[in-house]
Amino acid sequence: MFDVIVIGGNLAGTSAAINASSRGLNVALVEKNEQPFSPAHCGEAIHKDILEYFDLLHNHEYIKNPIMEVIINVGIKKYNYKFKTPLQMIIDRNYIENELLQRAEKQGVKLILGNRMKDFNRPNDIILADNTVIQGKIIIDSSGIACQVGRLIGLANKLRPEDIGVGIQSRIQGNFNVDTMKLWFHKPYGPMGYAWLFPLNDKLANVGIGIMGGQKFDMKELLDSYIKYEIKGDYKILSTYRSCVPITAPLNRVYKENVMITGDAARLANSLTAGGMRYALISGSLAGIIASKYIKKEINSLELYQLNLNKTIRSLTKIYNIKRKMEKEKNFIKIYSIIFSIACNLNNIAPNICQNYLFKSLRKDWRIIDSLKVN
Ligand SMILES: Cc1cc2nc3c(=O)[nH]c(=O)nc-3n(C[C@H](O)[C@H](O)[C@H](O)COP(=O)(O)OP(=O)(O)OC[C@H]3O[C@@H](n4cnc5c(N)ncnc54)[C@H](O)[C@@H]3O)c2cc1C
Repeated sequence: MFDVIVIGGNLAGTSAAINASSRGLNVALVEKNEQPFSPAHCGEAIHKDILEYFDLLHNHEYIKNPIMEVIINVGIKKYNYKFKTPLQMIIDRNYIENELLQRAEKQGVKLILGNRMKDFNRPNDIILADNTVIQGKIIIDSSGIACQVGRLIGLANKLRPEDIGVGIQSRIQGNFNVDTMKLWFHKPYGPMGYAWLFPLNDKLANVGIGIMGGQKFDMKELLDSYIKYEIKGDYKILSTYRSCVPITAPLNRVYKENVMITGDAARLANSLTAGGMRYALISGSLAGIIASKYIKKEINSLELYQLNLNKTIRSLTKIYNIKRKMEKEKNFIKIYSIIFSIACNLNNIAPNICQNYLFKSLRKDWRIIDSLKVN
């Protein structure tokens, strides 16, 4: 029997597997795809410090484009933010996922790729698509929005359509301004959502649309019209991919008996921005650490996972409550305009204070992991 079985091999799952196996646990990771995260189906924007914290920034030659300016269009009004140090980086996630899988394999994690978890018989049996049964003392569900195990054990319900962010994105070759990311909120390109252009370098960009589910729009048409509006000159579409992200409140309970739920599976994403990479890395790492403490009998339940995430859950729930108020079209524009105009004014008046505050608040989450590593 494995000490830990992780379901899902993206950011949350690989982080969980690495942290559990580096502490001596016998870990298996099940991922339904042969190759993780290809083609890209994520804007791939992440805060620089989080890449640094997880050692994903240094000593590697891969795309990591620092963004110094953000231009936000909300209907007829435009907001412009300039940063002294990059707030976001656009990265090649395919590289990151491969790197993390390689780290996991080097740590001794048994990778089961190209095989899907089909069922879960509590408390230990994971049944794979080819009917193989593997057993784990602890199960970590990192299966993304599907929340495969969480749903089977009654921790997660079906999402309302409005609580699903529906996305389509193309990787495009063309000529781009490397410093600037662009966002267009609401109509005509991103109704009840937004459209984005995130440059990976001066020749490559992610251009996408993410909107609240439950609306009847042709996503491809929206994307085509945004591409035509935003990209001047010749361009070539290299790939296009559709995907979803939870834009809902996080699960109240992220563990039950011998199961922990991480990342998108635990609905740990910002429901206003759809940003979830940081939460996937943090909650996945945390689950791996807690699993090792449990197996080594330093703790006698997985409740510590819940306790450490409660603050994050509360703050994401507050964000979700704002999002609920924005589900009327009128409020959608009004609330975003208020948020952007306050942020823009503060950034113009006192950029240092404003940006330092932002960076500091973003660092809060991973203090959880630091404190557990010391103990
Ligand atoms: C269009 C779009 C743009 C986004 N842009 C950004 C952005 O710019 N910045 C940001 O921070 N976040 C962004 N996000 C959100 C971000 O992509 C997610 O929050 C993040 O990928 C969550 O990681 P995860 O590991 O929890 O889940 P996922 O990345 O969803 O990984 C889940 C994994 O589980 C596997 N799996 C599922 N079911 C099974 C099964 N039964 N058996 C085995 N394996 C299974 C899947 O194949 C997948 O590899 C975006 C999301 C979308 C949809």
